[in-house]
Amino acid sequence: MARLARSLDGLKPHYDVVVVGSGYGGGVAASRLARAGKRVAVLERGREFLTGEFPSRFPDLRGEMQLTGKRLRVGSPTGLYDVRFGEDMHVLIGCGLGGGSLINAGVALRPDDRVFRDPVWPDAVARDEWLDEGYARAARWLRPALDPKATEQRKYLALKRASVALGQAPVPAPSLVSFAATVNPAGVAQPACSRCGDCCGGCNLGAKNTVALTYLPDAVRHGAEIFTHAKASHLARAPGGWRIHFERQDRSTSDVGPGTASVAADVVVLAAGTLGSTEILLRSRERGLPLSDRLGRGFSANGDIIAFGYGAKLPVNAIGVGHPAKVEGLDVGACVSGQIEIVDEHDLANSLTIQEGVLPSALAPLLPALFIPNGRLIGALKSLIAGVYRGPFASLQTFFAVSHDSASGRLVLEDDRLVLSWPGARDEPVYARLDAALAALVGEAGGSYVKNPLAGTMMGQQPATAHPLGGCGMGRERRDGVVDHKCRVFDASPGAGAAAVHEGLYVIDGAVMPRSLGVNPLLTITALAERAMLHLGADFGLTFNDAARHWAAAIAATAPGVESIAPEH
Ligand SMILES: Cc1cc2nc3c(=O)[nH]c(=O)nc-3n(C[C@H](O)[C@H](O)[C@H](O)COP(=O)(O)OP(=O)(O)OC[C@H]3O[C@@H](n4cnc5c(N)ncnc54)[C@H](O)[C@@H]3O)c2cc1C
Ligand code: SF4
Repeated sequence: MARLARSLDGLKPHYDVVVVGSGYGGGVAASRLARAGKRVAVLERGREFLTGEFPSRFPDLRGEMQLTGKRLRVGSPTGLYDVRFGEDMHVLIGCGLGGGSLINAGVALRPDDRVFRDPVWPDAVARDEWLDEGYARAARWLRPALDPKATEQRKYLALKRASVALGQAPVPAPSLVSFAATVNPAGVAQPACSRCGDCCGGCNLGAKNTVALTYLPDAVRHGAEIFTHAKASHLARAPGGWRIHFERQDRSTSDVGPGTASVAADVVVLAAGTLGSTEILLRSRERGLPLSDRLGRGFSANGDIIAFGYGAKLPVNAIGVGHPAKVEGLDVGACVSGQIEIVDEHDLANSLTIQEGVLPSALAPLLPALFIPNGRLIGALKSLIAGVYRGPFASLQTFFAVSHDSASGRLVLEDDRLVLSWPGARDEPVYARLDAALAALVGEAGGSYVKNPLAGTMMGQQPATAHPLGGCGMGRERRDGVVDHKCRVFDASPGAGAAAVHEGLYVIDGAVMPRSLGVNPLLTITALAERAMLHLGADFGLTFNDAARHWAAAIAATAPGVESIAPEH
């Protein structure tokens, strides 16, 4: 597929809409507003990765890590894996055109209905029909699917055997993977998944239905302009709209010219993710933009952990082989094939989902160092990648577990840096609950539960999450939320009504969740983004649909492999 992004030198001074960030929220906003005929620019801090450009070997992976802590800042600011070390909790997010979709497992689930019955949501979310329509649109564009071979995968069978410990059998998990060759709704040809397991390293085959292969090409086809290497810092009111200030990440120190720039827009959609959007608004508030006191509060880790089982009796083949395959003859499966759903009818907080997962192949050389005592030495000796596909690592189990927490973390700015404060995080009851369930599963398989192989390193004992939510949570008015149910940002100017909003300012991403979801969040983020667009369209009399590019199927049929990111005729 042709590159979508263009050089920042081509950025115009003004757009109808500027979308900051290009994950699920940003992708939906860019596509729908471009379809409505708006002149849209997308500013993304990271780089664009074409299919085949994702790191597949450990040295490449190291170049794609950016690590930030209180006194730490290493790696490129455009590295694909953005790890934030916190004193109370660590967070992993994606950085690149397509956001977290580039490196996630793609599991797409709708939460238990009770989640939306929690009065923490504005009533309108559950009351109007557009939440369902949002989910329907998200499903049409992201296409969750069950792997027809899910129940044959060794890792699925291992989960099934172990599941007797919990008294609940697994079921196949819907994920955003094309299991058959197709032309997707954006008109992009996608080959069938090879079941290489590398989804969380970045799909080098093009079978994962990322935002970069769906909503973003659709936005470009409808005229949106996409710019990478643009990291928004803050925004302010400007005559007729907004001015967004950003840092150029494409300038080396030898370049002539400013590292900072700005662009004007009538409408701004902040879609920089939970951490990014909250940070931009916190900095904007420091510079005088009146915003709700709830800003930064209500951070949730979605009760999410990644954990391991080491030493199980039977092989599970849960280390990716990548594409092209590093080892022949191993059918690993997509990153997640199956899950155990435990639903507590009486107390939603106790419900949980455990998924079997796969580690990406680029991580393979690290495994001996992580799991074997004195393993650094052994790790060096085992640097031949094929080593980890045999012996003890063939039975290494990886689990993704999701449940509910109290969403009581807080994001603040310290010395202009975003910091997560959640002193009671590690005592949240969810972690003991998940540990008990995972230890039982691993014990049944004959292995030992390894909660955190990095506990002896700078990672410490803090929990870590890949599902950060909240910080700009929805509410009825600014006393209980940062945005309203349409994702419009509340205006806290003196004299403004409690539900007054800043005209033309939206947050549309994981930051708007006012609570944990208890399932992997991407489908809900996308559904609420689609819902926000339906409201925006209705409020401003914009017309757009989400029709798929049917004509693209005809092109692909006559010329397989031909890509079609051409302007509309
Ligand atoms: C390893 C891993 C596995 C996961 N697996 C799953 C899964 O199976 N299912 C699931 O539902 N969820 C999963 N998730 C979580 C899911 O990917 C995220 O919840 C989702 O991507 C969040 O979407 P978003 O639109 O809120 O933001 P993001 O997808 O995070 O997108 C935000 C974008 O904004 C950019 N940005 C940030 N700050 C700025 C700035 N200042 N200026 C410009 N751009 C900026 C970022 O680079 C990013 O591209 C996983 C996450 C990880 C890391
Ligand atoms: S299993 Fe491999 S080919 Fe299939 S979606 Fe994941 S990374 Fe792509």
